[in-house]
Amino acid sequence: MKRDRRVKILATLGPSSSDPSTIEKLFNAGADVFRINMSHADHARLNTLVSAIRDLELKVGRPIGILADLQGPKLRVGTFEDGAVELENGATFTLDSDETPGNARRVHLPHREILEALEPGHRLLLDDGKIRLRVVACDATHAETRVEVGGRLSNRKGVSVPDSEIPVGALTPKDRKDLDAALAANVDWIALSFIQRPDDLAEVRKITRGRAGILAKIEKPQAIERLGEIIDLSDALMIARGDLGVEMPLERVPGLQKQIVRACRRAGKPVVVATQMLESMIHSPVPTRAEVSDVATAVFEGADAVMLSAESAAGDFPVEAVETMNRIAGEVERDANHRAIIQAQRQEPEPTGADAIAAAARQIAETLNLAAVVCYTTSGATGLRAARERPAVPVIVISPVIATARRLALAWGLHCVVSDDARDENDMVNRACRISFEEEFARPGQRIITTAGVPFGTPGATNMLRIAFVGSDGRGGI
Ligand code: PGA
Ligand code: MN
Repeated sequence: MKRDRRVKILATLGPSSSDPSTIEKLFNAGADVFRINMSHADHARLNTLVSAIRDLELKVGRPIGILADLQGPKLRVGTFEDGAVELENGATFTLDSDETPGNARRVHLPHREILEALEPGHRLLLDDGKIRLRVVACDATHAETRVEVGGRLSNRKGVSVPDSEIPVGALTPKDRKDLDAALAANVDWIALSFIQRPDDLAEVRKITRGRAGILAKIEKPQAIERLGEIIDLSDALMIARGDLGVEMPLERVPGLQKQIVRACRRAGKPVVVATQMLESMIHSPVPTRAEVSDVATAVFEGADAVMLSAESAAGDFPVEAVETMNRIAGEVERDANHRAIIQAQRQEPEPTGADAIAAAARQIAETLNLAAVVCYTTSGATGLRAARERPAVPVIVISPVIATARRLALAWGLHCVVSDDARDENDMVNRACRISFEEEFARPGQRIITTAGVPFGTPGATNMLRIAFVGSDGRGGI
């Protein structure tokens, strides 16, 4: 089974898509990686979903990626005497450390660390940015604010503090428990929400110890300021446009999306464009024209993956949403301008053997119009460098490690196959030809190019290239 598309689709699972038959339909419709949102899934649910996906993997014979998304430090106000209050523009409103229910003059803010981090002039955005307060005076126990944009504020609404760096790590006590459960369940990727600084990633890496890839969700301005360091310390990134559009002016999000996609492509780290991509499909079987354009933009930019959130997790048309994304992606990739736009953003190889070989393999494959580039990779690093080249011909990745194949399901254009490492050069060519043939990328008489690391069987840098004919029985020729 091969996909007719290079960009990957990440589908969030939830109440609309938790039974094994729906998950199978989502996969058949085009989902390459499934996301389990730990803000909503408990550990029993996590384990049930992971086993359903692993059963499906056996049934369809394709590696499938699983991403567990940790909630992170999501901040909320306390409660009100009457459940809600109306905040008038220009009024004074105080957030404090007093636990008693609030009123139109004050409310409890159950996060001491925010009160300590606030300074006069800082903004507080409440309820997805609908209400805006500005700090006038503050100390460690209270912040007096002026209501700049008022409205109705009810119990436990979310609070963002875009101007303040909060001295908390990226992991709350709940996240630590969820992380342990996700690692025990053997997920492939861990997503970290609301990271602010590179240290947040270092802390998580100490716990994961390579058992899962670390995906940094970019949804705070502090993370944008240190984007380069965050990319260096992550295995992948997500442009989390939902919270990013609350913490920063909405109109900055498209520019940031371009900036982040380009920076990730330069670094060769997978990048996911997320949130509200087909939002109207939560309740409608067809998307808006603007949504179709939004998905198309991400595909034209060469993002590794596009994501569905509530559309697949809690909507009325989860399978249709994946089908729609699949159709848009396929059509954009066949568009006459797609290749030129992707190529314009291609980065020069870095001065390493692996990059030089990835670039050479791409160029030879394109010059000779070969059927596929085939890469042997144990850790996945060589696969990612091949994806970074964004070749015009298909890329098949062969790995003896199933965890590598699953993780690379997120990366642009990689068709991953689990198979033993090559024993010798003949075996390498034969195996690559047979897999290209069986997976329907190459017909007998066509040629492929294979990259591998010699000596065989020892993980290490890729250092060899071979062009080979696919024989009549799918085996390798000269
Ligand atoms: P969320 O993250 O769905 O976990 O909030 C994505 C986003 O903020 O865009
Ligand atoms: Mn978010």
